[in-house]
Amino acid sequence: MPSCNTKTRYSSKKMAQDYADSYNRDPLVKEILATYWCELHQGWHLTRDKPRNIGWFRRIQELIDKVSGHTES
Ligand SMILES: [Zn+2]
Repeated sequence: MPSCNTKTRYSSKKMAQDYADSYNRDPLVKEILATYWCELHQGWHLTRDKPRNIGWFRRIQELIDKVSGHTES
C-alpha cells in the first residue's frame, strides 16, 4: 500500500518541482526532494532521497543551473 495519504499533493508537476528545486538549492540540506506521480491521489508528491543518489542529483542540479542561467560555483 502506498503510504502517501498524509503527503502534500500538488496538482501540477511544476508546483511540486518548484518546491523541490528551492528546497534542493539549500546547500545545508541533507536530503533532496524528488517529484513522483501518484495514481492513487492523481497528483504529484514529493519524496526524500538520501545523498547516496548524489550522482543523479548533481546531474539534475546541473540541468537546473543551465535552465536558470546560473554559473557553476
Ligand atoms: Zn498519493
